[in-house]
Amino acid sequence: MASNHGEQSLMVAPFPTDQVFIGGQWRSPVGGGVLPIENPSTGEILGRLAAGGTEDIDAAVHAARTALDGPWGRMTAAERGRVLARMGREVETRIDMLAELEALDVGKPLKQARADVVALARYLEFYGGAADKLHGETIPFLEGYTVYTLREPHGVTGHIIPWNYPMQIIGRSVVAALAVGNAAVLKPAEQASLTALAFAHIAEDCGLPAGALNVVTGTGAEAGAALAAHPAVNHLSFTGSTGVGVAIQQAAAVNAVPVTLELGGKSPQLVFDDADLDKALPFLVNAGIQNAGQTCSAGSRVLVQRGVYDAVVARMSERYRALKVGAAIDDRDVGPLISARQKAMVDRYLDLGAQAGLIVGQGEIAADAPTGGHYVRPTLFAGVAPDHALAQEEIFGPAVVVIPFDTEEDAVAIANGTEYGLVAGVWTADGGRQMRLAKRLRAGQVFINNYGAAGGVELPFGGVGRSGHGREKGFEALYAFTALKTVAAHHG
Ligand code: ADP
Repeated sequence: MASNHGEQSLMVAPFPTDQVFIGGQWRSPVGGGVLPIENPSTGEILGRLAAGGTEDIDAAVHAARTALDGPWGRMTAAERGRVLARMGREVETRIDMLAELEALDVGKPLKQARADVVALARYLEFYGGAADKLHGETIPFLEGYTVYTLREPHGVTGHIIPWNYPMQIIGRSVVAALAVGNAAVLKPAEQASLTALAFAHIAEDCGLPAGALNVVTGTGAEAGAALAAHPAVNHLSFTGSTGVGVAIQQAAAVNAVPVTLELGGKSPQLVFDDADLDKALPFLVNAGIQNAGQTCSAGSRVLVQRGVYDAVVARMSERYRALKVGAAIDDRDVGPLISARQKAMVDRYLDLGAQAGLIVGQGEIAADAPTGGHYVRPTLFAGVAPDHALAQEEIFGPAVVVIPFDTEEDAVAIANGTEYGLVAGVWTADGGRQMRLAKRLRAGQVFINNYGAAGGVELPFGGVGRSGHGREKGFEALYAFTALKTVAAHHG
């Protein structure tokens, strides 16, 4: 492979894929290591990624620090906003390239990959526009004082992101951090780093000053752990699995660095007897299979009141049976899982449900799906007890459990009865119940008669419990990426 290294890089992306981006320069990682780029739709190795390590992370953190003391740090809020807005327009211009890269790298059907590009452009538009609209306050105080607050960037922000939605997570995390003047070090996931590299090229082309954004690809154990433990990082945001999130918080604690964690979920959709089933049905199905269920906010539990339980199970299983799985490029309902490892983990749950006789509907893997891809059949389980492993553990594949309930009280107890609390959906025509459940459900977002609110970049997002803490998206992210300073002037 070493001999045709350059050719392979060219094949997979319109830029070299085996370099890190530090202080405005593209270069090989210090250790010279590489990681394979796998196409999850085929299992083929498409090229190589730089395996950045401790020294690269250290260089990136220092480049970010230097940027804060240079042109980036001196930019006005309006100028920062203008650069981000320009990047948003450039992302839109390059939509085909970005969508193809994401589909290839993540295995996500093309239409879903395009939606992620649109979301990234929208984040750049939103946060570009918000950059000069964030301000502190004046506080009435004692006679002879003037007191006000300043919202200042933390400094160097570290961003460790997963492989399932690279562009969207760059949008809600890195872009928000840049908008308020931080300098960012981004460590994308080793399974899907291509659009993070493409994003750095766009930043460069749009005039983002050197060092404001640094991208170091590499493994979690090396590059990720080095970033989490770096003493000169001032804020860390992590999206990924709960176990790694806890490890990152522990590493950051040594340096007293604040952390935002967006972790897993087992999010419920509650369907009451009076729900508009025609309206609910597409959401009940799509929220579980989008990105092959590899979504932290997947609607992976459907709780259904007895009066409509049989109807919901029948209608959902009919839809599941019609689902087709195939290569990302073929744009079917569901693509492959990210890796053989992920498939093995999901298969274990599918076997568990099959042995217990809980499967009521399964989609089909298309005949033309490449044999080396990591495909699983989207699967609906029904009659699952709320404390069953399938109803408690995050499967992170296209598998949804349907659970019956009798009363509103029961529904709340089941919905809140996992260690997670990310999002929840409520389907009911009863206004009082909508308001009661919005308060009682343990989640960072509650959707009433919808699920996901079309992604809404304006809407604060994050979890409670083992789903994490801290909020991204909307203005909340701008608050989170700043430190508040109080100034009390005594002038007599
Ligand atoms: P998954 O288990 O779904 O692959 P992870 O939570 O392992 O998701 O990965 C999310 C991100 O965290 C990736 O960028 C990965 O490289 C990184 N990561 C994994 N392990 C560590 C670690 N020990 N320290 C820091 N980052 C890590």
